[in-house]
Amino acid sequence: MVQQTNQSDVTEDVSDSITESKPEIRQKICILGDFSVGKTSLVKRFVENRFDDKYLSTIGAKISRKKVETDRTAFDFYIWDLAGGEAFQHVTKSYISGATGAVIACDLTRVETIKAMIVYTQLLQEMDPDIEIIFVGNKSDLIDERAISESEISEISTLFGIPFYLTSAKTGENVNYLFSQMALNLAGKL
Ligand code: GDP
Ligand code: MG
Repeated sequence: MVQQTNQSDVTEDVSDSITESKPEIRQKICILGDFSVGKTSLVKRFVENRFDDKYLSTIGAKISRKKVETDRTAFDFYIWDLAGGEAFQHVTKSYISGATGAVIACDLTRVETIKAMIVYTQLLQEMDPDIEIIFVGNKSDLIDERAISESEISEISTLFGIPFYLTSAKTGENVNYLFSQMALNLAGKL
């Protein structure tokens, strides 16, 4: 289904697995990356556990909400997804402001998407040196079309000191793991 969204739309995960003993800590997580790398698909896979093959282009930002637990901490993730307008000038301060974490994605089948990943990283680190970033090489299922090798992405990851995971929003590979690692990293900073 194609939906026009605006900043007041919050898609909520209805799971009720958080125990009362852990206070829920609200965190803003931004998803960044070049157009069509799979940002919206990753959020959809994580929050709703589904994948749409159609290319959806929407306007503004969409916020989805999901609870993520670690052993000691329960987080309420507010995941901000760019909806169209991935050009750098459209990524406003309000999109990034207040974020404690960011997932910056490239498309493993398009080598040029590495560039946006690096530019976004520099932009974010300039705005907030403490922001917890995770790199994602998405579309790992498209093995025959792979244009970025694991060692290439690993090199960039080492250069910036930022962890990376190869994911597929299509099969779900590493998608939950990625967000659980984000939660662990954020919990380590509390
Ligand atoms: P966004 O512009 O970064 O939000 O990208 P979308 O989530 O809209 O995805 C762009 C296109 O890539 C769509 O056609 C998706 O179905 C497709 N796509 C996204 N993630 C994957 C993936 O992991 N594997 C494959 N095969 N296709 C994907
Ligand atoms: Mg999108």
